[in-house]
Amino acid sequence: MRTPTPTPRQKKTNTRSSTAAISEPLAKRPRLVLDEDPALLDADADPEIVFVGMRRMGPAPFNSPHADLTIRTLTDTTFMVHRSILAAASPVLAAKIASVAKNSTARQDTVVGQDFSELCEIALPESDFVVETLLRFIYPLPDPVLLDLDDLVDVYVAATERYSIAYATAALQRALSSPRFLDQDPVRVYAIAQRFALEELAKDATRSALKHPSDWPNYEEFRNMSADHYHSLLTTHRRIAREAAVCVASPFLFQRARPVMLANMSSRASVCSKSFTCWWEKYVERAKPVLLDTPTSDKVCSPAFVAGLATHIACQSCREALLTTVLPNGYIQLVKEALDALPAQHGL
Ligand SMILES: [Zn+2]
Repeated sequence: MRTPTPTPRQKKTNTRSSTAAISEPLAKRPRLVLDEDPALLDADADPEIVFVGMRRMGPAPFNSPHADLTIRTLTDTTFMVHRSILAAASPVLAAKIASVAKNSTARQDTVVGQDFSELCEIALPESDFVVETLLRFIYPLPDPVLLDLDDLVDVYVAATERYSIAYATAALQRALSSPRFLDQDPVRVYAIAQRFALEELAKDATRSALKHPSDWPNYEEFRNMSADHYHSLLTTHRRIAREAAVCVASPFLFQRARPVMLANMSSRASVCSKSFTCWWEKYVERAKPVLLDTPTSDKVCSPAFVAGLATHIACQSCREALLTTVLPNGYIQLVKEALDALPAQHGL
């Protein structure tokens, strides 16, 4: 039994920056902004020098002096953006902006060294990271590259469930199906796909999960997935594993590859009391446990796996026969085709 490495989930902070495009954390880019609330001013202090609020400003280009909208995040960071761009990207933001613009009068906010007129402000219950990432999808900038699955889900939930940002939703779905996540965390991707009813992604993730043993950790994503979906993933993995083991143990493929084997053996290799099956018995013995664990052709059809058998075959003729298995139309090619076809037989 292999012991998988659990993927620890940590409490997220509000100023993470795990995207390639967001290379400079917000925390390194603070700016002082005068707080405009007179109730917070100390009456005894010199009004010309008292700063009662320290507010971070978003990075360029979300600090534009030509902005007509400010977004304030959960941690009081301000992003200075353009209403028309946000309204075009999100019907939810468009409605929010229209409501705020209607109720506000033209006013003047003062940022140290800069004046802005006719600014509207909306407060979004999001972390700095989520707001900045969404803005990078909304603005005509290169798509941010998310390196962490937790971060991706945070942004995806905001884009789909709270703001209906179609472009970000599509881009994040493409990111979820990238090898970065499918190869490393297929079971977590499967749970996420089921949570958001992404059927094709769930199939892709199920196929990728075959490359990993089924004794996966109790991932946090399972809490948002039904027991039915969990059961489906587990039973599919186990069924394909059993079928892969049966497939490799069947003499059918051996017999199909036998002509290629005999045609490519030298005349000296003509002595085997078991009709040149020594290598095949050893192959089945060593491949079955691998396939019951990870039912794909990746390991058992690799040159390294085949080469590793040679030292375990006493029969000299069968050691030579083993070499013929990697030839075109040889035994390994047939095994690979049979194993690779198994997921499709389960609708994957
Ligand atoms: Zn033999």
